[in-house]
Amino acid sequence: MELIFLGTSAGVPTRARNVTSLVLDLQHPTRPGVWLFDCGEGTQQQLLRTAFHPGKLDKIFITHLHGDHLFGLPGLLCSRSMAGNAAPLTLYGPAGLAEFVETALRLSGSWTDYPLEIIEIREGVVLDDGFYKVTARALNHPVECYGYRIEEADKPGALDAAALIADGIRPGPLFQALKRSETVVLEDGRKVNGKDYLSAPLPGKKLAIFGDTAPCPAALALASGVDLMVHEATLETAMEEKANSRGHSSTRQAALLARDAGVGELIITHVSSRYDAKGCEALLAECRAHFARTRLADDFARFHL
Ligand SMILES: [Zn+2]
Ligand SMILES: [Zn+2]
Repeated sequence: MELIFLGTSAGVPTRARNVTSLVLDLQHPTRPGVWLFDCGEGTQQQLLRTAFHPGKLDKIFITHLHGDHLFGLPGLLCSRSMAGNAAPLTLYGPAGLAEFVETALRLSGSWTDYPLEIIEIREGVVLDDGFYKVTARALNHPVECYGYRIEEADKPGALDAAALIADGIRPGPLFQALKRSETVVLEDGRKVNGKDYLSAPLPGKKLAIFGDTAPCPAALALASGVDLMVHEATLETAMEEKANSRGHSSTRQAALLARDAGVGELIITHVSSRYDAKGCEALLAECRAHFARTRLADDFARFHL
């Protein structure tokens, strides 16, 4: 899995940072997919500066309907169609997402030539395809806003081919069945169970991608034990009250959540436009004082997990 940040600024773009959007490239061997989380204005322009094009996206998750997370969506949907992409696309987001998208398309005389499904979510599991489970939790923001927990299913362990050959089993289609933990019958009548030749399953990755939020009880469940947590840190610790009054978090609050939830790594994003590069360094230092494994996302930063 890889995360690529397309925008990391809160509210308005700056010269260095566009408004919120990030790509999650699943990089799964049998279930490839590229997902987008939020789509602030200018996201398609940012996307052009990466290896991803809109046709590669198969799912878009919107955390909430504030413009800095949403206003890039109609343009991106239309460009995806004009480029001739026929692959279906599914949108997930709060109530009102369908009305926003359908109204923007209708009033602008636009349409999509690909199947577009819009799923207005509630708290709970919003997707489970056997490879990935995505759970949404309501956060604390002036408008309906969700965070997403993405859990990858465990991957089967590696097949010990050398041991199979040593036991007189020749490589071939049989190996594929054994890799799927199936029991096969050999020509000589022997029964062989794939489980006896597989190493332990590889644990799937877990991550949490937050929308805008002041601290709230749901945050802990959303982030508990994930390998990687993406959380806003709109303002510095000294401005915590102001941040919370507008439904945002301070650096300290994001870091303490990461610590309490036992996450592997914290990535902070959605920083106020008041901070220049030096100011952002200070935000990062504030987080690291409470949670050392913190990194700050810049536009086009990539994080592998
Ligand atoms: Zn925002
Ligand atoms: Zn917001």
